[in-house]
Amino acid sequence: MAAYTCTFHPERGEIDDFCSLCIKEHEERRDAESMTGDERATELRRLCTGKLSRPMDLIHKRIEELVGRPVWTHEIGLRMEGLIEEARSRPRNTPISGDEIRDKVIGSIPPDKPVIILTADMDAARSPLQEGEEKREDRKS
Ligand SMILES: [Zn+2]
Repeated sequence: MAAYTCTFHPERGEIDDFCSLCIKEHEERRDAESMTGDERATELRRLCTGKLSRPMDLIHKRIEELVGRPVWTHEIGLRMEGLIEEARSRPRNTPISGDEIRDKVIGSIPPDKPVIILTADMDAARSPLQEGEEKREDRKS
């Protein structure tokens, strides 16, 4: 990592690793459920400003906490203003809906980009185990 000055802790001067104060802030973060929508939106906007001063997996986890649903990586780059608005106003404790996946997750991908969608047939996924069970029973008899 090239040396940089943390956007949030410039008093630390130039550093060449993730900012320990930013990581400490993450570890001591507030429960998103106890925050107002405006507080969540403000934190999300701040979080995505300036230099990358903490590991991306911590940022991704916090974005999901603030928005209140799973967030796909491409959404972070392509629809941050939408995510900030969701942090402010999306109903809490609500699973992501099919409409949200279509409109926000898939809908945010530029039309000229190829998309591969995999769906799982859980019955088909279980059948190899069932076949294994039958074979074991066959051996007993
Ligand atoms: Zn920092």
